[in-house]
Amino acid sequence: MDYDLTLFLVPDYYSSFSCKCGDCRQSCCEGWDVAISQKEYYDLLSLDASDELRSRLSRAFYIPRDAEPERYAFLNHDWLGNCPLRDSTGLCLLHSQAGEESLPGVCRLYPRSIRKDLCEATLSNSCERVIEMLAERTTQLKFIQQRIGAEGTGFEPPYRMSLRMQCIGILQDRNSSLAQSFESVGELITGQKAQKREFEDCLGVMMSFCREYSENGSSIAEYCEQSIRTLNGISGNEYNKRRILMHSMFPNLEMIQENLMVNHLFYEKFPYSESREDETEEYESLCAVLCFIGVLVNGNLERISRTEDLVDLLSKAFRVMEHSAFHYNDHVLLDRAGFGEPEIAGSLLEFSL
Ligand code: SF4
Repeated sequence: MDYDLTLFLVPDYYSSFSCKCGDCRQSCCEGWDVAISQKEYYDLLSLDASDELRSRLSRAFYIPRDAEPERYAFLNHDWLGNCPLRDSTGLCLLHSQAGEESLPGVCRLYPRSIRKDLCEATLSNSCERVIEMLAERTTQLKFIQQRIGAEGTGFEPPYRMSLRMQCIGILQDRNSSLAQSFESVGELITGQKAQKREFEDCLGVMMSFCREYSENGSSIAEYCEQSIRTLNGISGNEYNKRRILMHSMFPNLEMIQENLMVNHLFYEKFPYSESREDETEEYESLCAVLCFIGVLVNGNLERISRTEDLVDLLSKAFRVMEHSAFHYNDHVLLDRAGFGEPEIAGSLLEFSL
């Protein structure tokens, strides 16, 4: 690898990404707590803008009591949960009238995540276009060095990068199923083999995830409720019949799942994400992500007959899993159910897609 601070390690589709803008079915600003800095807030207020844009800008953000310079103002969604700066066709008025450079950093960069301290950049699975790109490809994801118009400040230490890439390589070994590959990653990270538990006990854990996210009002509540209705109390045989049906509806599902999880591992810097210090906890979280997606898709089969429906479910699920406290909540739920050890969390892998 070259040590040039202008070369960033990126997934190979990074530069092909472009936002769907008004064509997006579930724009990233819908229902999200978009926060902007104090400087960005006052830059917007002093922008040279048309009367319509000025009027919208004056209502678009509010300042909370506990404002901080970097999280100073929050997007004031309209009663439908939409950004007030979007016009009736879904386009961003700020973008179309004042240009991309006028956008707050979060709107300009999303779904990109640029880590200057590591000279790497990636894209989040929470964007529907990212999921579409990953679902469309038949080749494995590669990571390449590229200039992205930014300059880094450092690099991932080689021993960490080597382990991160080793885990990704294991997931991409198509001689094993993804669930088996996850078990191998678990053995590498925790030194322990996954233990098998009764199907009913494992299903109970996954239902507790569905209950938690059906109650907390998140964007996946409806999917969780449907999974509870469909799967609660189901036998292992019936669950597997639904899984076979799922794969006949989406023949590339195993490949989609692999690309999604590889993208997620790189996004999270697994097993060195910022939110966790303990690598075994990171592995438990990873199992929770994989199995929760599996249960949501399996439980909602009757509602996701088209690829677009699958993409919508997955991007909404990753909004929760990559941009909320999911990685803390999953440990509470696993601990509560007696699955809070990596070898036991690994027993849930039969719920992967
Ligand atoms: S979710 Fe992705 S494609 Fe849709 S508006 Fe946001 S960045 Fe664009």
